[in-house]
Amino acid sequence: MLETRFAAAVRRASARRPAAVSSMRPLAVRVARPRPPQLLLPPQPPADEAGRLARLRELGLLDTGPDADCDRLVQLAALACEAPMAMLSLVGEGRQWHKSRVGVPVEHAPREHGLCAHAILTAERLLEVPDTALVPWFDPQLYGPHSQPVRFYAGVPLRCGDGSAVGTLCVMDQVPRRLTEAQRSTLDMLAQAVCSQLELRRQLRVATQTDRLTGLPNWSHFESQFGAARPARGVAAFVRLRTVGQISSAHGFRVADALIQQAAQRLREVANAHGALVGRVKRGLFILFFPGVEPQAFENELATQLVERLALPYAAGELNLVCPVNLGVAAFPRDGRSLDEVVNAADSALQLAIEREETMASFDKTVANVQSVYFRLEPKLRQALAEGEFVNHYQPKIDLATGRIVGVEALVRWEHPQRGLVPPSEFVPALESTGLIAEVGAHTLRRALADWNRWREQGLAAPRIALNVAAAQLRSERFVEELAEAVGAAGAAGALSIEVTESALIVDMRRAAEVLRRVRELGIPVAIDDFGTGYSSLAYLVSLPIDEVKIDRCFVQKSNSDPAYRDVVETCISLAHNLGLKVVAEGVEAESQASLLRELGCDQAQGFLYSAPLSTEQLARMLQAAPASA
Ligand code: C2E
Ligand code: CA
Ligand code: CA
Repeated sequence: MLETRFAAAVRRASARRPAAVSSMRPLAVRVARPRPPQLLLPPQPPADEAGRLARLRELGLLDTGPDADCDRLVQLAALACEAPMAMLSLVGEGRQWHKSRVGVPVEHAPREHGLCAHAILTAERLLEVPDTALVPWFDPQLYGPHSQPVRFYAGVPLRCGDGSAVGTLCVMDQVPRRLTEAQRSTLDMLAQAVCSQLELRRQLRVATQTDRLTGLPNWSHFESQFGAARPARGVAAFVRLRTVGQISSAHGFRVADALIQQAAQRLREVANAHGALVGRVKRGLFILFFPGVEPQAFENELATQLVERLALPYAAGELNLVCPVNLGVAAFPRDGRSLDEVVNAADSALQLAIEREETMASFDKTVANVQSVYFRLEPKLRQALAEGEFVNHYQPKIDLATGRIVGVEALVRWEHPQRGLVPPSEFVPALESTGLIAEVGAHTLRRALADWNRWREQGLAAPRIALNVAAAQLRSERFVEELAEAVGAAGAAGALSIEVTESALIVDMRRAAEVLRRVRELGIPVAIDDFGTGYSSLAYLVSLPIDEVKIDRCFVQKSNSDPAYRDVVETCISLAHNLGLKVVAEGVEAESQASLLRELGCDQAQGFLYSAPLSTEQLARMLQAAPASA
């Protein structure tokens, strides 16, 4: 339909031939109006250049592949204007890019060499240059020595959306001439068609690639904008609104939405002012890319600007809220040579900022390498497992009232052929990251049962062994079955208990509760490990099937020097007792700590005061000397 209407217009336009190429008279005589004075000089960028470039980026057209719709409209322009050259030219920062072209051999030309940068400035319907020889700085061979010379130019600015001109639909000829009024109208009409086409596509993309809440690009749109912009260098930054979650729980999600929208608007303004790309990744998380900006300059100026803008209060209904932020920053291509890499680097910087509770952190190779070190360690850990280099050590748990051993905790060690005993802090995180923890955990379980049976064979009162269970093990479908099989095969009911941390449970509480319930049905008690370090919430203990709480050693160790810590320990003990749970204090190193714990009614203690973790044989000797109570 569109095409038929245009085809008719084109026919009409080319039917009424103008004072044509063949009948040219000297231009000085033909040109009634004087040349526009600005053409004597190469063009200055428009006043709203940043906004205009942002608009151009939003169209997402720069450096995209062939496009049949645009090609068709450009061919129609050439036909209607009887011009050997025509193009859809987008005026970017430093160049004009020929999205579709007829008779023009090159894809782009320097912005300052072409006439399109002038055409986008015109307040008229179109810019017509009847003879380019009269423009002193213009080189008719700007498209190369073998191209047709450009002696005539007529370009209609493509005013898309908000009215800023992103480029032109232009026709050119190798001889001086003018367009007829009919040709002008047709060229103008075709330009409007190009605009509608581009705008329609943009709107479609907005529908599919824009985050509805803020109107910002989503990740995939951000990615394609980055691809189109092809920056040589720059800075990527994640911005996280730190308390969106809390604001949402306290005031409702609509208040949080309003805050996110206002933050997005502030980020958009900063981005537009600096020619940056901005997108929203998830709820309170935004990504920005500042092309051409050096990391140091970003940290010194832009980061402060961003943080200050975001620190201003947000108005949501009656409320006036503030929301602190975290920034994670990485440099392109220094910290990552592709968008994915640099965004990963910015993400690891953001994690660093969160961990350090700082507003901003820059990418730090040594920190980021931790993850890859884990994966480099994996083959060695597998080999260690195959060679039986993981061994269990056992640390006694003491009944504070009687002083007797009431259990032991199994603590894994790596008997490294060269390095000797390697502590778990050096490899347990790697086991968890790589998923190897499940296999090593199964191995620890078998060893524990074997040791338990051995102590019994030696005639000792074997204490219950507590196994540390990692989050990945809890998630495993097979975990409970393996536990049941191992206990059944070893004939050692009553030999085991498990310890899990709060953070391992909190991810999927309902599933965790179900797993723990089944574990307890096997006669295996459950303890919460490192209590106080994670979510520090006793509230959820009520809903979990557990038997014991282990107060983290950092509280225990400060309890006799700092009254605040003493209060925490006291409250933990009384609350746990109210819930019918036993309390174990970890890391007891001094007699003063032990006597305070006794005073506060703590049930058991574990720590260097009583014994460091011991090998199987060492523990057997200790059991001989000081029998465990059953
Ligand atoms: P955890 O479960 O909190 O283990 C207690 C840690 O405190 C042990 O460190 C133990 O040696 C140490 N410790 C005991 N008494 C004292 C004391 O009086 N003072 C001080 N400062 N420390 C004391 P270890 O053996 O290095 O284990 C570190 C962590 O590694 C464990 O913390 C646990 O999270 C993990 N881990 C150890 N073995 C295993 C295992 O078999 N499986 C899993 N998933 N994790 C394990
Ligand atoms: Ca433990
Ligand atoms: Ca612990």
